[in-house]
Amino acid sequence: MKKLTETRTTIDDIDRRILGLLAERMQAVQAVGAIKRDTGAAPLRDDEREGRLYSAWTKEGERLGLSGYFVGRILREVLDYSRRDQERVLGAGRVATGRNVRVAYLGEPGAYGELALAKLMTTRATGTSVGKGMRSFAACVDALEAGDVEYAFLPIENTIAGSINEVYELLARRRVHIVDEEEWDVEHCLLGLPGARVEALTAVRSHPVALQQCKRALSALVGCAQESVESTATAARLVAEGADPCVAAVASEEAGRRLGLEVLARGIADKEHNRTRFLLVALEPETPERSLLARTSILLTLNHRHGALANALAAFARHGLNLSKLESRPLGESPWEYLFYLDVDAHGDDEALLASLADLRPHTNHLRVLGSYPRRSGRGELGGPATHVAEPATIEHAAEPHAAHAAEAERDPRAIDVFSVPVPAAGPAPAPAPAAVCASTLPAAPKKPASSARLAASEPARARTIVRVGPMEVGGERFALIAGPCAVETRAQVLEAAQAVRRAGAVMLRGGAYKPRSSPYSFQGLGQEGVRLLAEAGRSVGLPIVTEVLRPEDVAGVAELSDVLQVGARNMQNFALLGEVGRSHRPVLLKRGLSATIEELLLAAEYVLAAGNARVILCERGIRTFETATRATLDLSAVPVLQQRTHLPVIVDPSHAAGLRELVTPLAWAAAAVGADGLIVEMHPRPEEALCDKEQALRPEDLLRLATGLDPILAAQGRRR
Ligand code: PEP
Ligand code: MN
Repeated sequence: MKKLTETRTTIDDIDRRILGLLAERMQAVQAVGAIKRDTGAAPLRDDEREGRLYSAWTKEGERLGLSGYFVGRILREVLDYSRRDQERVLGAGRVATGRNVRVAYLGEPGAYGELALAKLMTTRATGTSVGKGMRSFAACVDALEAGDVEYAFLPIENTIAGSINEVYELLARRRVHIVDEEEWDVEHCLLGLPGARVEALTAVRSHPVALQQCKRALSALVGCAQESVESTATAARLVAEGADPCVAAVASEEAGRRLGLEVLARGIADKEHNRTRFLLVALEPETPERSLLARTSILLTLNHRHGALANALAAFARHGLNLSKLESRPLGESPWEYLFYLDVDAHGDDEALLASLADLRPHTNHLRVLGSYPRRSGRGELGGPATHVAEPATIEHAAEPHAAHAAEAERDPRAIDVFSVPVPAAGPAPAPAPAAVCASTLPAAPKKPASSARLAASEPARARTIVRVGPMEVGGERFALIAGPCAVETRAQVLEAAQAVRRAGAVMLRGGAYKPRSSPYSFQGLGQEGVRLLAEAGRSVGLPIVTEVLRPEDVAGVAELSDVLQVGARNMQNFALLGEVGRSHRPVLLKRGLSATIEELLLAAEYVLAAGNARVILCERGIRTFETATRATLDLSAVPVLQQRTHLPVIVDPSHAAGLRELVTPLAWAAAAVGADGLIVEMHPRPEEALCDKEQALRPEDLLRLATGLDPILAAQGRRR
């Protein structure tokens, strides 16, 4: 017995020396980090050196009679820790340190989320982090949006359970940016009160997924009930709080250690590898250090042209970029359409990535960069030493095609905007370009475009945008007639109007439900009920619908029912609304403001495009001049001017411009003659009964006459309805 104790003392002594040496090694690592920071002499991750270390360690280990495999594993951990520590040293000069950052995560202390968060936060030079346990993933994002926390930390996928749909959904719907990631090796342990015996257990508690993952080990506990609770950490706490040694929990060893529980069995999951990837999200994007390997996550929807997905993916391959993940989720509002999430092994401001995004854009309806962040998970990080990672080689290999596209990216001012580059919080580093979302703060472009609306601006090489709405198109070969009442008044009225609109051969039904009235005493519209009635009327005649949305908070509700979202003239510069419709997955009909210039209209469209939505239809609807004979002055010259300046489709609203029924048809024909892509006109089954804009409402027979009168005009241009 004495011999055993003595030998153990020797081991303890060796361990102390190992730790002492490790601490010494870390000091040297930090000194190297400081040199790297001050001189920029070497990259943070030196793959070649790491590779050499790896072979030296394994060789020397084997010479000493150790397993090369285990020695290699130890080195990997040491290198990972070192790299992260250097990153912290590097970042310390860049971001404000010493402050507390609050981070929301699911569960309570001891939850895997909290442990992974602690691991990540030792790397990030943002001061001390304070975790705030929440009851749901949505609550984490709510806390972020409310300013209660600086970050939310959310699991996105698990090697056994797969993708976490709810988190994908939050990334798509909420205004968040991914700024970092972490990977956590989940090791489920069976925890009990001190002295508890496995054979005596009568109940095991845990999160249902954890119970599921430990099925084999738990079913061996005969007569032991399994009880689901909120989280693994909750299960551990309940065991610690109760006094029953016959109840155990499945949770992390760390949760048990904190609560004074004993590990009754370790590593009890059915599968050996059980890893969870977490994302750190914030309200503003961050730029990863150039010296770090980075990953960029992208969200997109496709425009459903032939081969769109293949073309979209080929854009990355062409520029030599590696896609590490492709995930598709159904798009709630449009059956059989999908949101695609892509992870690309590249920095957000990598020229190859910018060029890929520029190539990708024509194939998408919606494209948003969710964030660019240090790559801390995946094959390269897990499988072996850095030299086994293919990334640097892949990028080099791409040099030739990439160079051509990089030049193109420089010519293409849009390339800058496809990724919103953040300004760092503080520090001496030169400020990168600010976010593209705010047009007024757009950075100076390498080459100044004719319009500062970069995404909306036409370029010689760019095809015109065709906005598809179900089977209909605006901006394509066919002239698009959109018609319907000014306002949805009653079910009977809108159903009757829909019939007349269909008879006239229109491709879409319009109708206002949320009405922007000049007087607060006028009819204000039926609101969401009106949208429902319009949707019913559209369905009854097989036409998609368009309706106006007035407030950002109504966008989601209107987008659920309406095929197109209209932003009215009075809201053309409501930037919060433009951002919100930009984040939605519905096409947007954007009307020119009453006193807006063409450039201002393009910049308003830019807000929608910069928020990710590529489907914007512009609408000239008359502007305010000194002339009082008409409600507004229809600026028909805006049509060819816009068509020169933008690739977006342009339609005309003669109804609100004229204000008088007799003028609507001639102006509509003039709009077709001047080359508009379509029209939006007001028609009421009985104009004399209309609750708003009755003087300008066409009767059903007027609409029919307008429509047939378009044919010779369009035919003269080689076009048709
Ligand atoms: C409308 O189209 O219903 C409308 C109110 O138009 P505008 O915003 O152009 O005035
Ligand atoms: Mn109207």
